Amino acid sequence: MAVQLNLQALTNSGYKAAPVVTVGQRVVHRYTLQDTRSEDQVTRGANAVRQLIQDNQSLCPTFAMNDDIAFKQMVKKCIHLVINQLAVCLSDKPKATNVDPKYVDKYFSESLPKEPVQCSQGHILEKAYAQFWHARFNGNCPANALGQHAIGQMIIDTELQHDINTIEQDRKETEQKEEENVNRAKVASLRSEMALSHRTKLNTTRIVCGSGKIVVKIATELTLKYGGKFVTAGTFKVVSKWIPGVSLAVGISMGIYRFSQGQWVSGLVEMVSGGVACIPGGGILASMAIDAGLLIYDANNEGDVVLAPNLEQAHKFIGLDYDPNVRPTKEAIIAAYHQQSKLIHPDKLSSLGEYSQEQCSQLQQMLNDSKEALLKHYKYT
Ligand SMILES: [Zn+2]
Repeated sequence: MAVQLNLQALTNSGYKAAPVVTVGQRVVHRYTLQDTRSEDQVTRGANAVRQLIQDNQSLCPTFAMNDDIAFKQMVKKCIHLVINQLAVCLSDKPKATNVDPKYVDKYFSESLPKEPVQCSQGHILEKAYAQFWHARFNGNCPANALGQHAIGQMIIDTELQHDINTIEQDRKETEQKEEENVNRAKVASLRSEMALSHRTKLNTTRIVCGSGKIVVKIATELTLKYGGKFVTAGTFKVVSKWIPGVSLAVGISMGIYRFSQGQWVSGLVEMVSGGVACIPGGGILASMAIDAGLLIYDANNEGDVVLAPNLEQAHKFIGLDYDPNVRPTKEAIIAAYHQQSKLIHPDKLSSLGEYSQEQCSQLQQMLNDSKEALLKHYKYT
């Protein structure tokens, strides 16, 4: 007998739905709460679960909702919401896969139970869920396929518990190894990409005019970052029209360089005061260059050049997908940044055994730059 459910409350609540599955007569809806770092999201999720229970009186919640703070904490921790026929469960574990089904609690959260109990016919259930069910359904087991039968005494099966713990332990170890491999690959690709940026050769064009020497630096396949703004190739084309020597350089390169410690500021000031006006159209050039953030820099201070990633790379470095039509939230940027920083933390990398302290700090610097640039680009700072 199919139960008509009103799942409206879960729409736009932060819960993401997985495809509905029917197992025998059981219909299983599965949802996962997204981005629990946001307290708003957790509150929305908790309210949605309350509303769901209110909208569907036939459902049996297998958790307490009387203490609001404790309930929110549970929603935050147990991000998997499973509606398994009539049982509503919150679980911190995803659906158990690649596990002998005889260990799985199929009637509640479909994961491996922490405290397994067996009903009178040997169905395995999570004790915490079963207790709520027991109170609501007069001591009947939720596995109704075999007709009504007693859920039993709900005594933890310690032998079964031990077996399950062993399975979990093995699984954890395998997962850790897999994660380490994935991390190793991620760091390697991050690093080779950054190393590639560092090898990018500078094309330098010198323009001597009046008393000032001006050096325009443009790097291959990068975009100019200026005060956190990413300037696209188009801008360079406009600027290059004004300096004949630059056109060539721009032809092979779209560059972005950030000078460390704000030295580009002195470079720009130098340029403006150093007699740019002697070039025909120089005044316009100066203002355009400043607008575009083109780095025009005193030759005597050459050397302190630091590469900055372009917009797409900055996303990639901190582990966000880049889509020009999507504006990531501040939280998403910071969360991704932390995630990535964890990945390249010296402790982590030394366990991977492949990177020196210096390489770690280079990677970290690149991440910091990427994060700062993105925050500025999206005007979060
Ligand atoms: Zn049973």
